[in-house]
Amino acid sequence: KGKQTISLKKIEAGLLQGERAMLARAITLIESNAPHHFEDAQQLLQSILPQAGRSIRIGISGVPGAGKSTFIEAFGTYLCKLGHKIAVLAVDPSSSVNGGSILGDKTRMEELARNPQAFIRPSPSGGTLGGVHRKTRETMLLCEAAGFDIILIETVGVGQSEAIVRSMTDFFMLLVLTGAGDELQGMKKGIMELVDAIVVNKADGDNKPLALKTKSEYSRMLHFLQPATKGWSAKAYTCSSLTGDGIGPLWDVIMRFSEETKEKGVFEERRRLQSKEWLYSLIHDSLQNMFFKNEKMKDLLPVLENQVMAGDKTVTKAVQESFEVFNQVLRNTDLN
Ligand code: GDP
Repeated sequence: KGKQTISLKKIEAGLLQGERAMLARAITLIESNAPHHFEDAQQLLQSILPQAGRSIRIGISGVPGAGKSTFIEAFGTYLCKLGHKIAVLAVDPSSSVNGGSILGDKTRMEELARNPQAFIRPSPSGGTLGGVHRKTRETMLLCEAAGFDIILIETVGVGQSEAIVRSMTDFFMLLVLTGAGDELQGMKKGIMELVDAIVVNKADGDNKPLALKTKSEYSRMLHFLQPATKGWSAKAYTCSSLTGDGIGPLWDVIMRFSEETKEKGVFEERRRLQSKEWLYSLIHDSLQNMFFKNEKMKDLLPVLENQVMAGDKTVTKAVQESFEVFNQVLRNTDLN
């Protein structure tokens, strides 16, 4: 145990010095499902917390093929040249299902992966989407404490994962393709309401005129929506991740966003609210896990289920009984 405490200190010291090996070790602790790693990881997080937060957190979503990895490679490399340190993380909704991860994969961003100012970490695999959420959020804090001042969090444009990434970022953008008139129609209003910018990618060669047209269509749609960030009107832009066209101007937009929202206090307020939401979401997940993953509950629930289905017991009575047992479980649980 004593030895472990020393190594934890070492990890912390190295991490705060920006040593990537120590950062990687810290992330491994966060991602581990072993109880003793959990405790170490939480202790580490608690002590680095004052050094975290000094970054701009940017969420990037888009359907497969929209050009996310090509964009991140171009954008990340551009930012490194400006002297920034970039961490690329991912929330991959499929990683919790099949254990593999298709996002934030180093092989998809070879140039950036070799850049000493960049750090790329694929989506944690295994467990629930809630688990992936927690691990990514905590990994982000570690990266910030290690001196990474720009965090890019990538996700695929499906279901819940976009809302999750929105809930942990300052600026959220959607990467889209041109000529997708149908896509434009079918675009979920819910997703458009989350974004601070829509970026029409692949605005190069013959595709450029269409990209400009698509951009104005998206801008028009955004104009009618409630802004995702108070006081900021989301617009559409074009870029080419291949030629680098539009990458610099997009960064200018993000910097202006950062300045304006910080000036108005909107930036800080969102971070504070995100922490609060995070608290409740974690309590919610933990309660659910404790309830449904407990062996006693797992034995009891099918019995109650049968009684309710057979019409022998009212649902309310069954719920009451389940909580009586859960209460006993809680009394015998020490909170990790
Ligand atoms: P992802 O699935 O969203 O990560 O998409 P990828 O980054 O893998 O890109 C999908 C395909 O689009 C690849 O063949 C890229 O080379 C191509 N691509 C990405 N960005 C651009 C771009 O700006 N212009 C052009 N012409 N092709 C692009």
